[in-house]
Amino acid sequence: MSPKTGTILVTGGCGYVGSHTVLSLLESGYKVIVLDNLSNTSSSAEPAVTPEALKRVQKILSTDEPIPFYAVDITDKPALVRIFESHPDISAVIHCAGLKSVGESGRRPLDYYNVNIAGTVNLLQVMEDFDVRRMVFSSSATVYGDPPKIPIPETSPIVASMSTYGRTKVFLEHIIKDFYRWSATLLRYFNPAGAHPSGIMGEDPQGIPNNLMPYLAQVAVGNLEKLTVFGQDYPTKDGTCIRDYLHVVDCADGHVAALKKIEREEAAGTFECNAYNLGAGTGCSVLDMVHAFSKAVGRDLPYVISARRLGDVPNLTADPTLANKELNWKATKTLDEMCADLWRWQRNNPSGYRTQN
Ligand code: NAD
Ligand code: UDP
Repeated sequence: MSPKTGTILVTGGCGYVGSHTVLSLLESGYKVIVLDNLSNTSSSAEPAVTPEALKRVQKILSTDEPIPFYAVDITDKPALVRIFESHPDISAVIHCAGLKSVGESGRRPLDYYNVNIAGTVNLLQVMEDFDVRRMVFSSSATVYGDPPKIPIPETSPIVASMSTYGRTKVFLEHIIKDFYRWSATLLRYFNPAGAHPSGIMGEDPQGIPNNLMPYLAQVAVGNLEKLTVFGQDYPTKDGTCIRDYLHVVDCADGHVAALKKIEREEAAGTFECNAYNLGAGTGCSVLDMVHAFSKAVGRDLPYVISARRLGDVPNLTADPTLANKELNWKATKTLDEMCADLWRWQRNNPSGYRTQN
């Protein structure tokens, strides 16, 4: 069977990684449709209104052509079926939709299992029914737990993570691998950060951000008073945790690279399910990041040191060699670019997509 080339369905396509991925796909010539329940974006939930994140994609592409959008929840299987019925040309799914807060997952574990696990199983069942057998999945470096070796290769053991969120990613990797005879790519993101260099598209978290970069950005625009650094007693150079921050545009491009690999393999008659680290391969401590972002903003951002945050591990730095080789993908953007782009986005959009430009 020759590989189907058609439309790519992006779930969670109004979110941070999803919206940048939609843009990368369109820039690479793919046809795209988007599904999102708009639970983690300030876009209007009015079905007739194009979500703001997608309007910004159109703006960057200088086009009025709408991106087909469905305000659908992945736990609503009949609604998923209707999308696949309306678009018989869907050839692959990039699956970014899901809940992603470690702390919240401890308070609402059943919601996380329902959305991340049951929602994904729904999606896989509908894909199977419609013979769509290609997926690129948003996994996470959290599947490595506290890894024995830095930088982390994909062969590092996958562990039952300390958080419910992390466990959903581990289970989902197994579920996706178990799905019979198909092409899937598990992208283990390290820490996506930054924003589109245009300054009109970026991360738009609802409420107080949990993650370092959006929190720092809120401090910089004056919406939050100061950063709390979670722990300075880790076995690292300055005592704060080390992460591998990856520009969100590089992360988005990784999805296009993954799709292209699937297409190449299917053309050669092979169907594989592989996992790849999407990381820059460079470790950056919390304090390194505070200093780099302060430099981009042009003033020292205030912070205090507090106790460790439950579940944090000292160091998550990727070995991205496999993705470099097999996906022909490499992180191209520097930490300074990440910080400058994030600052441009946040300064222009202090209230995210609710900001009237
Ligand atoms: P995000 O919250 O910005 O995007 C997720 C999108 O999914 C949102 O637009 C949200 O409205 C949508 N969504 C949530 N539940 C849904 C549901 N039930 N049905 C339909 N849509 C739903 O998050 P993100 O940072 O873009 O992350 C995307 C994916 O990447 C997630 O699966 C996340 O776990 C994974 N990931 C993210 C990071 C990170 O640091 N951003 C790191 C590793 C993995
Ligand atoms: N962090 C912090 N203060 C914050 C948010 C995060 O010190 O308000 C630290 C956190 O402890 C971790 C690093 O920043 O060491 C990255 O955290 P984030 O939540 O952004 O990503 P994670 O790697 O946990 O997915």
